[in-house]
Amino acid sequence: MQQTTIKVENISKIYKIYDNPKERFLEVIQKGKEYGKNHYALNDVSFEVKEGELLGIIGVNGSGKSTLLKIITGVLQPTSGKVTVNGKVSALLELGAGFNPEYTGVENIYFNGLVMGFSRKEMEEKVQGIIEFADIGEFINQPVKTYSSGMLVRLAYAVAVSIEPDILIVDEALAVGDVYFQMKSMSKMEELFRKGKTVIFVSHDTASVRKLCNTAIYLDKGKIIAKGTAKEVVDLYEKKAREVMSSSSKDMKKDSIKQITTDMFKHEADEAFVRNEKYEKLVEHSREGNGKAKVCNLELLSEEGEPLLIVDENRVGIIRISVIFYEDCQCSVGYHIRDEKNEQILGSNTVYEGIGEISGFSGDRIIIEFKTELPLKEGRYNIMTVLSTSVFLNRTVEFVDVTKDGMYFDVLEKKPYRIWNMVQLQNTVRIRKVSNEQ
Ligand code: ADP
Ligand code: MG
Repeated sequence: MQQTTIKVENISKIYKIYDNPKERFLEVIQKGKEYGKNHYALNDVSFEVKEGELLGIIGVNGSGKSTLLKIITGVLQPTSGKVTVNGKVSALLELGAGFNPEYTGVENIYFNGLVMGFSRKEMEEKVQGIIEFADIGEFINQPVKTYSSGMLVRLAYAVAVSIEPDILIVDEALAVGDVYFQMKSMSKMEELFRKGKTVIFVSHDTASVRKLCNTAIYLDKGKIIAKGTAKEVVDLYEKKAREVMSSSSKDMKKDSIKQITTDMFKHEADEAFVRNEKYEKLVEHSREGNGKAKVCNLELLSEEGEPLLIVDENRVGIIRISVIFYEDCQCSVGYHIRDEKNEQILGSNTVYEGIGEISGFSGDRIIIEFKTELPLKEGRYNIMTVLSTSVFLNRTVEFVDVTKDGMYFDVLEKKPYRIWNMVQLQNTVRIRKVSNEQ
């Protein structure tokens, strides 16, 4: 008999919504008089999670997923209802929650372990594995306050999964951090599941819920509208999402694809660009995805069409991507410009730009160009490409092809002054002297 590790009974969470701050104030001073409306973030939610269960919670933004997790972990109190939890819980709720910003990564690993009830000796055995999983290099010995959001997620994730809690609760934390880390975390989730750990995983990425979870709950406006196997619930969710998705955006997708494929191969140079063995060799070791289509060349060009290896005053660049289809497939095509720490600083994809997914038949060769400003501070950058398919626009579901480290460029120091920003756009500055007191 499986033990129940989490029991949620008739949970409701009500937020008061006021039309304006005055109403809130009046309600406080005028005892008994009610202003504002009751907003149910959660409305009479009940379910149980058994030991070893991997429960997915899906629902559109605002459906109450995060509120539910916060109540289960005790971060929030419900307005009514009861939650019972048996076991050691490790939760990934908010960025950096649970870290001391002044401590280094390593110190925080120990600190977290001790809070969870592990001895220093036990943590000494685990620390190396956590550092390797986090994979943030020398930063592990720097104070956490210097970390980027991607690094924080990596460290939080590494700690949460490596100290092997009885119950792991994850709130869409996988959405941050780079693609490689997402995949690594995914396999770690699978590993945890095989070990019989209980997991609650909130995501709007239906593919990972389908893949990782055995059961699921579908939340809509604070209510559970479906409960069942992950497959059943995700199918229902996707069906509803398709109904909601306007048919106009589908039509737009098809039209723009036609345009793209017809005027592609006008230039002779394009044929030569399609496939570059040097590029393919560079990305070989890190290439990921199902391979139905692949990026076979990538260049950064100036507006005049010259290769751009050093970005100087010229802040406009064209990212030219060659895609070869090996099977019939439809996917978005995009890129990320990453800095030396592999933080994604700039980027876009065809869905985001309103073109939609690109469809190709086996053997099709397509070139896609993105023209963008490059308001980057000095340093070395690399360009990563991502081909992915989505069930609804913008929600990444399956990676078709991911390439990294195939293309680098440098941005030179522009002015004698250093500005400590990630990106720098031209400002218009106005200065006025108001008066002189003397
Ligand atoms: P999800 O995680 O599914 O996107 P949330 O749990 O964050 O949804 O939010 C559920 C609902 O509760 C939303 O309508 C949201 O606007 C509301 N809500 C969340 N936090 C607050 C708050 N502090 N005050 C008022 N309303 C809130
Ligand atoms: Mg949320």
